[in-house]
Amino acid sequence: LKLVSYQHAGAARTGVLDAERQTVHEVHEPAAARSGVRGLVEDGYGPQRPPRTSERGVPVAEVTLGPPLTPPRNVFCVGKNYQEHSAEFARSGFGAGTSPDVPSRPIFFTKPTSSIIGPDEPIDPHAALTDALDYEVELAVVIGVGGRGIQPEDVWQHVWGYTILNDVTARDLQRDHEQWFLGKSLDTFCPLGPWAVTADEVDATNLDVVCRVNGELRQKANTKDLIFDIPELVSTLSAGITLQPGDVIATGTPAGVGVGFDPPRFLTPGDVVELEITGLGTLVNPVDNMS
Ligand code: MG
Repeated sequence: LKLVSYQHAGAARTGVLDAERQTVHEVHEPAAARSGVRGLVEDGYGPQRPPRTSERGVPVAEVTLGPPLTPPRNVFCVGKNYQEHSAEFARSGFGAGTSPDVPSRPIFFTKPTSSIIGPDEPIDPHAALTDALDYEVELAVVIGVGGRGIQPEDVWQHVWGYTILNDVTARDLQRDHEQWFLGKSLDTFCPLGPWAVTADEVDATNLDVVCRVNGELRQKANTKDLIFDIPELVSTLSAGITLQPGDVIATGTPAGVGVGFDPPRFLTPGDVVELEITGLGTLVNPVDNMS
């Protein structure tokens, strides 16, 4: 099941994507009317219990997709969770205030929901604040059943599904403020989408994670290379934080970010960032020309 949030005929709607026909079918459930895709996740809709939809679909090209869901609070994120990326970040000199090499425990931070944008929406380069705008493709986990003290072996029962997340980062703010929150939380710094895919459709332990900038390959890895896997991340987070349905956890980015190049290759206005993960679609966002 692929769920979308979209605008059509002047209204915000929730839909199911028919990937073969490339049509969107509007969902008719009170849960969706209440809080969109998050409402469906909260109420346990999924492959076993699909929501009721319009039989007639609208071509996906005729709708404006938004972020597939808004989590109930900040997006949970993980830093330095692929070995090669951890090494490139250490070499770059932008890692002030963080440990040098591969972490021994997961590094968590968050991004506010106010930074979330949908597919094709422009990323604000915030040119007055940063000269070091960077991209990070990441697999994002959507929690279905909440809970605290979730054991690693039980984690998959708590995962509703997945989407793609761009952990956009102002590297100079990340460095100068010695903490990751500010440089990763500016408005538009969290592109999400294009849809939310239920867990049954993919094997999250073996997904290719790819980023292209203006068509040029920059990042390519597989989720089997995660330093801390999804069971470890969810069990660590939930040890003392009660997870909620609709919580989003970004699992970290592979090597190939702009700051990893020598000299760095940061984003500039007009660039187009294209993120692709096996089975989850492609999330495209331009960097805004206006600032
Ligand atoms: Mg990241």
